[in-house]
Amino acid sequence: MTDPSSSLCTQCGLCCSGALFGEVPISPEDAPALEQLGLELKQGHRAFSLPCARLEGSRCSIYAARPTICRTYRCGVLQAAEAGEIRLDEARAKIAKARSLTQAVRALLPHGISLTQARREWLARMAEPATESGESRAAHAPLDLALTVLNLYLDRHFRDERRPALTLQELGRDT
Ligand code: SF4
Ligand code: SF4
Repeated sequence: MTDPSSSLCTQCGLCCSGALFGEVPISPEDAPALEQLGLELKQGHRAFSLPCARLEGSRCSIYAARPTICRTYRCGVLQAAEAGEIRLDEARAKIAKARSLTQAVRALLPHGISLTQARREWLARMAEPATESGESRAAHAPLDLALTVLNLYLDRHFRDERRPALTLQELGRDT
C-alpha cells in the first residue's frame, strides 16, 4: 500500500512554505543539529523560520534526514488519508486547492513581503479593525479577502488543535 505521507507531502509542502504556520517550535537542545541541516533558527533557538530554507518547490530537499518534528507532524488532510477517511485522490485535490489559494495570495503580496509576514499583518488588522483608516482598509481588501479564504480553507482541512488555527501567538513575535 502507498504510504500517504511520502505520496502526499512530497507534492505539498504547505506546512514548510509558511502557508500554514510562520515557524516551527523546537527544543533548544535540538538546535545545533537543526542548524547543521541549514535551518534558520530564531526565538533564542526555540523555533526555526518558515518558509523553510530546505524547501525546494513543494518538496523537502532533506526529506530522508528531515527533523523529527517534521517527520511526526501530520496535518488534518494527512491524518484523514492515513485513517482511510478520505482517498488519496481526495487528499491530493485538497492539497491542490490549498496550493491554488496560496498562489492567489502570493499574487497579491506587495514586493518584498513574505507570506508569513503578510499573514501576521493580516492577523493584526483583524484583531484591531478600528485602528485602520477606511483608505488603508480598502487598499488591503483584495489581499485580506484572499488571506481569509485561504486561512478558512486551511483551518477546515489542514490545521488542528495542536497547531492552532490563526496562530494568534505569532502576533507580536519577530518573524
Ligand atoms: S501540509 Fe500535510 S500533506 Fe502537506 S506536507 Fe504538511 S503534513 Fe504533508
Ligand atoms: S526540514 Fe523539510 S520537512 Fe521540515 S520544514 Fe523544512 S522543508 Fe519542511
